Amino acid sequence: MKKEINGKTKIIGLIGGNIENSLSPLIHNQIILKHFLNFCYLPFQVAETDLGGAIQGIRALNIRGVNITFPYKEKVIEFLDEVEESARRIGAVNTIVNNKGILTGYNTDVAGFKKSLQDNGKFVIEEKKAVVLGAGGAARAVTYSLLEEGIKEINIFNRTLVKAEKIKQDFSPLFPGSSINIFSFEQKDLKDKIKEANLLVNATSIGMASQLNNTPLPDEKLFHPDFLVYDLIYRPVKTLFLEQAERAGAKIINGLPMLVYQGIESFYLWTGFKPERKEVLEMIRQIT
Ligand code: NAP
Repeated sequence: MKKEINGKTKIIGLIGGNIENSLSPLIHNQIILKHFLNFCYLPFQVAETDLGGAIQGIRALNIRGVNITFPYKEKVIEFLDEVEESARRIGAVNTIVNNKGILTGYNTDVAGFKKSLQDNGKFVIEEKKAVVLGAGGAARAVTYSLLEEGIKEINIFNRTLVKAEKIKQDFSPLFPGSSINIFSFEQKDLKDKIKEANLLVNATSIGMASQLNNTPLPDEKLFHPDFLVYDLIYRPVKTLFLEQAERAGAKIINGLPMLVYQGIESFYLWTGFKPERKEVLEMIRQIT
């Protein structure tokens, strides 16, 4: 497949603080190549102090749009012109679209997480209880997604309690039929809540490729076989957290399906073209 960059090529890309291990450039450029689209997806590693300048640069350079990743999904909002409703409610943006200099923020992580759970057909969310570890941008998207699907109870554990409190404060009025409880990583509460949970999600960054031997759960014995354990991390493909969950007999999902679905939604927002999930998964299989 031949790829020509010419004067009409539209630039899309990824802005983040630590993107060396991101699969997004590979995936998006494979889709572009396969479908002969005149786009090019570039990685932009940006320091926090340069974030405002980088976002202004999207306008200045007429970049069509970008993904926003760790750790800027929340902070980026102040630099945008418009924010789509669910992204505004979540308070986190992972996709920016540039329409003639007007920058609009979206959150495709919500749809990505939701669709990845739907792949596990039998997992009906209503009447279920979840434990979410983390309270950053991804945790907000996951929590919002579960609440939208009508989950009965969510228990959020985070190192910085005030961030979990903010989730409860923001989402409780929107979803009065569901209960949101927050905790710091205290062994006793964690143990009890995990025992009752049908779903456990790691939405912290603990266990990413740069810290392979770390896991957010302090005690491996807390895993049990009767729940679905989901780690949003996709590199490594199986984190220590997932390894331990699998050893305990739990069903596991890593962050790849969510990455695929959110990527498809973002790609569609920039290009108007929606690649098939199957072909994107196949591409990922070939490059990981
Ligand atoms: P973020 O906003 O920076 O949040 C990071 C979270 O991790 C916070 O809850 C933070 O706790 C916690 N954390 C980090 N280091 C910690 C430590 N040493 N001890 C305890 N807690 C720690 O990042 P994010 O955007 O939510 O991303 C979180 C993870 O999800 C990343 O690994 C990212 O790659 C992944 N993700 C995957 C997908 C996908 O498509 N698969 C999509 C989005 C995100 P504090 O609040 O206390 O700092």
